[in-house]
Amino acid sequence: MPDSRRKMEDDVKPIEDLSRLCLHTITTRPWDIERAIDEYARGGVSGITVWRDALEGRDPRQIGRRVRDAGLSVVSLCRGGFFASSDPTERRRSVDQNLQAIREAAALGAPHVVLVCGADPAQPLEQSREQIADGIGEIAAFASSEGVRLAVEPLHPMYADSRSAINTLEQANDLCERLDHSAVGVAVDVYHLWWDPHLEREIARCGRDGRIIAFHVCDWRTPTRDLLNDRGLMGEGCIPIPRIRGWVETAGFEGYIEVEIFSTKLWKTDQNEFLNRIIQAYRKSV
Ligand code: ZN
Repeated sequence: MPDSRRKMEDDVKPIEDLSRLCLHTITTRPWDIERAIDEYARGGVSGITVWRDALEGRDPRQIGRRVRDAGLSVVSLCRGGFFASSDPTERRRSVDQNLQAIREAAALGAPHVVLVCGADPAQPLEQSREQIADGIGEIAAFASSEGVRLAVEPLHPMYADSRSAINTLEQANDLCERLDHSAVGVAVDVYHLWWDPHLEREIARCGRDGRIIAFHVCDWRTPTRDLLNDRGLMGEGCIPIPRIRGWVETAGFEGYIEVEIFSTKLWKTDQNEFLNRIIQAYRKSV
């Protein structure tokens, strides 16, 4: 690490153990959920974020029990959202699907669902944002009654066409303030937000309101060869991860540090070796 970057990160407390380490099932996509639970537990990982595709054909209640029996915690369910559409029938369907995701999260024992809010290239971003606010507004009370929180995850603007019209933490914070519901907060993902000149300020802002629900890490590779599936292992890229971790911790966040890597390249490698590399990278570069 260059000296200048090290200096900025001097104040960040080093990671001492794996008690806050959580992996997203998609990070080790070649493993089915049962294998992932066993391997994470063996490797000393503490938490698991379950992607919905990993639950296909399974009973979420049983999977939740299996996770806890292995000594892990269910950190969250990934993911709900996709509220924006120029088609009202689609918007209705999306609300129903989100209610279903909340039920699944409750059955699994996941305290929150990550929301990728959606966007529709057929309409202006402002309109998508209105529909996102309406959609989350419709499901927030139900989430609360199920004991599940909703983490709005701002996505990098390269996804503003079709994945999310919420692209900065400021927009996510504005949305949370507008909805003003205790079930609604944000997920800070360094991959999406590292470039933002207002990031420190906006992290402090949502921290003040107790709205930081989740913290996701990976790294930004240069060059990025694929807009979706070329995320790097922590330390492989240009994101100042310890610095951003310092900001979320200063803002009061003490939850899990979730490793979320989509990488066609890394999925092709031996997943046990990859898990070892993740643990080393977690100790050294987070
Ligand atoms: Zn994320």
